[in-house]
Amino acid sequence: MAATMTATETRPELAAIREHMIIGGQPYTEGETRLPVHDPATGDVIAHQVEAGPAQVDQAVCAARRAFESAAWRTMPPAGRERLLLALADRIEAEGEALARLETLNNGKLLGLSRMLEVGASAQWLRYMAGWATKITGDTLNLSIPFPPGVHYHAHTRAEPVGVVAAIVPWNFPLLMAVWKIAPAVAAGCTVVLKPAEETPLTAIRLAELALEVGFPPGVVNVLTGRGETTGAALVAHPGIDKIAFTGSTEVGKLIGHVAVDGMKRISLELGGKSPVLIMDDCPLEQAIRGAADAIFFNQGQVCTAGSRLFIQEGLYDRVLEGLVAVADGLRIGSGFDPDTQIGPMVSARHRQRVSEFIAAGKASGARLLTGGQDWDGPGYFVRPAVFDGAAPEAAIVREEIFGPVVVAARFRDEDQAVALANDTRFGLGASIWSNDLGRVHRLVPRIQAGTVWVNTHNMLDPSMPFGGYKQSGIGREHGSAVIGNYIETKSVCIAYPGAA
Ligand code: NAD
Repeated sequence: MAATMTATETRPELAAIREHMIIGGQPYTEGETRLPVHDPATGDVIAHQVEAGPAQVDQAVCAARRAFESAAWRTMPPAGRERLLLALADRIEAEGEALARLETLNNGKLLGLSRMLEVGASAQWLRYMAGWATKITGDTLNLSIPFPPGVHYHAHTRAEPVGVVAAIVPWNFPLLMAVWKIAPAVAAGCTVVLKPAEETPLTAIRLAELALEVGFPPGVVNVLTGRGETTGAALVAHPGIDKIAFTGSTEVGKLIGHVAVDGMKRISLELGGKSPVLIMDDCPLEQAIRGAADAIFFNQGQVCTAGSRLFIQEGLYDRVLEGLVAVADGLRIGSGFDPDTQIGPMVSARHRQRVSEFIAAGKASGARLLTGGQDWDGPGYFVRPAVFDGAAPEAAIVREEIFGPVVVAARFRDEDQAVALANDTRFGLGASIWSNDLGRVHRLVPRIQAGTVWVNTHNMLDPSMPFGGYKQSGIGREHGSAVIGNYIETKSVCIAYPGAA
């Protein structure tokens, strides 16, 4: 008789669902209330999360403080933190299939992307940041203080961990964003209270459990679940938080920035974007069309650097648009678990509604909708990829971050006009230039106001490459050596000693 497989063998993501928080190394289920967690491909409720209130926030921050000040953590050599981060990377890979499927269930993204980015890139980032733990150093300084006579000075700086970190992340790359905060914070010797987005708490809880399993001391990584305006707001305002590391919308980033300054907490902000894609008339055409489509439709456009404003040099305008519309029309929409799917659902009913309202406002503003945007019959939060042209420069679809599969195309004459259009936004996160003319590329790159400029590619990231925003796209940088500075306080040590007798 053939053995029958249990549900958890065929669907390991179900066994990975947790409905508790992690505080001080323990599962924790007390809270103000419980909130549903949905599968965006069906709208079904798949779990309930605790909503942490002020009492639970206080417990988590105190647990992180105790861990930060504990002898076990303070005296752990950097190589110990390195080993923990490496072990967590291995553990994430070992649990990779269940984690990837859990992410697809909760976020809706394509399973291939969950495997490659949520799991694969998380392990890659952990390993890169593990290496930093043993390379954080201070400087030796030569002072010129001339008094009192006969006294000499030795000075050096110490790079000390900033303390307890409140890490708040969005729902578009839930596991990876959590790792982007936890890995450098732990490498620097901090402890963390992580609040995942209320839409996607499930992989973050599992991440904290895996950290405990590989030997992270209790309290080093805590996870609080709940909404931003309740749990998140209480967390950032808590006096026991030394540093806030936030990724999310510019609007919420500004709110949190005010709270941080009030409490003089250290802060880094990774915020929204409205990134331009510039297609020059000497570009590799097929590659540029495919690239422009990927720039906006990857992860359903729910990407902070999504190429949502497409500028095409006039001689190529019609050909590029025609190609882009053909790609958009050909994308298969469906569940992220279906290997043939190319566009999954929006993360939530509320977000789908927001994206649909932008599309309606775009049509009402007089812009031409070349494809997409129709309502979707059936369950799940799907939006058909939409391509606009002829939008007024002040239209909301041109100026606001939609965070969905909606692109607005416009034409330009020359390099000066391309730069003016690209920079005509309050955001400055990413940009791409598609051109085979090296001189032109070098002329354009310094003129684009964006934290990352890609050439003949878009949305590519690496743990060694600093990432962050110009203008209202944020403050500070993640990744590379730059991110370590976010989690460090510099202490100057100045020692006087008598000169030779
Ligand atoms: P959001 O700002 O609504 O929420 C982000 C996080 O902040 C969530 O965990 C939320 O619960 C929390 N939050 C909301 N209000 C809060 C408050 N008052 N106090 C404390 N926490 C609060 O953003 P979102 O809709 O989850 O994510 C999409 C946004 O994130 C987009 O703007 C996108 O560009 C941005 N994003 C930026 C980057 C980057 O690296 N620059 C990366 C991914 C996403």
